[in-house]
Amino acid sequence: MTETPSRLVSPEAHDDSLLPFAVEPLDLRGRLVRLGPTVNAILTHYDYPEPVARLLGEALALATLLGSILESHGRFQLQTRSDGPVDMLVVDYDAPGKLRGFARYDAARVAEFEAAGARAQPAMLFGRGHLALTIEREADAARYQGVVPLEGESLAEAAHIYFQQSEQIPSVVRLAVGEVVTSQGRVWRAGGLLLQYLPAHGAHIRDLPGGDAPYDINDDEDDVDDAWSEGRALAETLADHELIDPDLSGERLLYRLFHERGVTVFPERALEEFCRCTNARIEGLLRSFTPQERADMIGDDGRIGVTCEFCATHRSFDPAVFDPKETNG
Ligand SMILES: [Zn+2]
Repeated sequence: MTETPSRLVSPEAHDDSLLPFAVEPLDLRGRLVRLGPTVNAILTHYDYPEPVARLLGEALALATLLGSILESHGRFQLQTRSDGPVDMLVVDYDAPGKLRGFARYDAARVAEFEAAGARAQPAMLFGRGHLALTIEREADAARYQGVVPLEGESLAEAAHIYFQQSEQIPSVVRLAVGEVVTSQGRVWRAGGLLLQYLPAHGAHIRDLPGGDAPYDINDDEDDVDDAWSEGRALAETLADHELIDPDLSGERLLYRLFHERGVTVFPERALEEFCRCTNARIEGLLRSFTPQERADMIGDDGRIGVTCEFCATHRSFDPAVFDPKETNG
């Protein structure tokens, strides 16, 4: 029934994976992310209130979609700073697929937000501020940063503004986060879809990391043709629950969306949680403080305790390692 049969190149994709794909007849490129155990681990390191966990889950999916343009080396960082109940959120994506993240929040203000019930839109958790997206390429030590104001937008909307501003590539981002019940109990899942319109005369998607637009993009309204309208409409038919459904593979989801046009799915890339904190790094950080600052950090047990804000690993140091000459007290 279709002249361009879908080619499912990779086997059924697993949880915690990213699937690049193309819908060539419509000049569409995209990436689909499905996060299972990885997002559940990151969202449960701390006892985040439910709306904060959702926001961090969205940020993890978005950072993976945007960061995965770095294929094998380099780092992508998503960071928000704002005046709402969640005043800072950080996600690091280290190519090719290592994730970590945390959210900083004011528990009392989040409780007020939750009490507002239906009137509380998730984006209100940010308040006003900005979203910074930073790419650090290893090969040439290049660093690019895009900053988007946050004024009540969701992360997906902010990403859309980012693409309009920085790359001028027609793009759609969909994000979903939710808890599902499995044999192991309730677990968090997250998913995301990035769909971009890259007409054949433009550059290949592998050229994406640059901030200096290697594209010959004609963004004349009249030229954004029917193909993009169709692609966008198809992306809108995707339901949130499909993005996080553990029983629906990434390939099947893409096939469902695009089979009439023919979708090519490229090999999946595995994702995992990985934190770069080490004893040596934390010790180095503590050494950078003054003796007085270190003295102020000594706990009731006579030691300096440090908990990683990303992975919640707790480390405890003997103050004498840094300031050996006198007993503390
Ligand atoms: Zn850590």
